[in-house]
Amino acid sequence: MKKTLAWAATLATVAACTLGAALPAVAADATTPAAVTSAVSATAFDTSRLSPEAKALADQILAKLPADWQQHRDAAIAKYGIHDTQWAGIRDSVIDPGDYQCQATALRDYQQGLLTGADPGLLFLLSLLGAPDMPTYDALFFGSESKSDTFGANGEYTNQLTSEGKDLKRFWDIDSADIQIVPMHGGDLFSSPERLARVISLMYGIPETNKDTALFLAHLIGHLINLDPVLQGGNNPIFTFNAFAFTEKHSPNPVGVSDRIVVGDGILQGMSALGLGDTAPRAILAHEFGHQVQFADGLTASRLTGPEATRRVELMADAYGTYFLTHSRGEALNAKRLLDSEKSFYMVGDCGFSSPGHHGTPNQRFAASAWAASVADNAANQGHILPSLAFDALFEAKLPDLVKPDAAN
Ligand SMILES: [Zn+2]
Repeated sequence: MKKTLAWAATLATVAACTLGAALPAVAADATTPAAVTSAVSATAFDTSRLSPEAKALADQILAKLPADWQQHRDAAIAKYGIHDTQWAGIRDSVIDPGDYQCQATALRDYQQGLLTGADPGLLFLLSLLGAPDMPTYDALFFGSESKSDTFGANGEYTNQLTSEGKDLKRFWDIDSADIQIVPMHGGDLFSSPERLARVISLMYGIPETNKDTALFLAHLIGHLINLDPVLQGGNNPIFTFNAFAFTEKHSPNPVGVSDRIVVGDGILQGMSALGLGDTAPRAILAHEFGHQVQFADGLTASRLTGPEATRRVELMADAYGTYFLTHSRGEALNAKRLLDSEKSFYMVGDCGFSSPGHHGTPNQRFAASAWAASVADNAANQGHILPSLAFDALFEAKLPDLVKPDAAN
């Protein structure tokens, strides 16, 4: 969740999985990324704690980086809000437990397992360099939808998500022809110095004229990642543990990125590892497409502010997603089976109910999905698809009930 977003600095990015969307000014989440990054930003890294090979690479990298690289890295995180998605929150709590707190969930435990045995010094250096964000920037700025796209580390979700994408565009009454559904792969990026150099230039503010520096850094960072087998050359799911929807609609100064949904291999592997591989990938895509419906219909803004504003947007995306997944002209999934899987999906999905950017408690998210499934199931004319604004009107009326469970949260 949330997202180039130079304009994002003017638009409050709240912890959600929508990047870029114009939401009411919300101080939400400003606490997290900025506070953390500013704490890290001045960090001078002591390379003597690294293995000799890693130290040799790290010294060359740190010597080659522009003096203000950390400020650029922080500005990019703040502008693009790429740490604001629920998935990135959990990931960061594993990579940087000192700065990001997350309660124990099966998903967080799964992620911790991903880094077992990794060199902590190397991990900290890579986190400082922003390496875990590089695949997200690559998909956000340089990704595009194409017939050769694959979804999942072994393409195991390609058919499922590609056909669901077509169904979603056919189902909802918005102009979705230009919405691109883009995969996010890790190893592909870190093994291609040319592609990585583009991302490094963007993150560290290295000008076009200084292409050689970016390319040189890309080679070094690629080697650094290959030093630790736990990182699997960048294919470790930790590098692609994210999914979000992006738009530049209403952006004061667009950077020319088309509306898109990005789905990382890591989040799909995580869901599969938790036994949710059957429906969670489709639920993630349907939820993110729900955000694109909100962008198209101008539904992200409301009179609400802070966590309530985020929760409304996220619960609505859950409802749009589940209505599509259970509707006979959508994915026609068996509501019981779907809701069972969504229940566990919601249990693992949130980092901190008290965080300003949480998506709603698992109970509230389940209530939103169960309600949406009942709207589809109880419709007199099963073949009729509610127009997205008509569905929203029902949702807005239902919202007070949906947040009643755990209302204190
Ligand atoms: Zn969302």
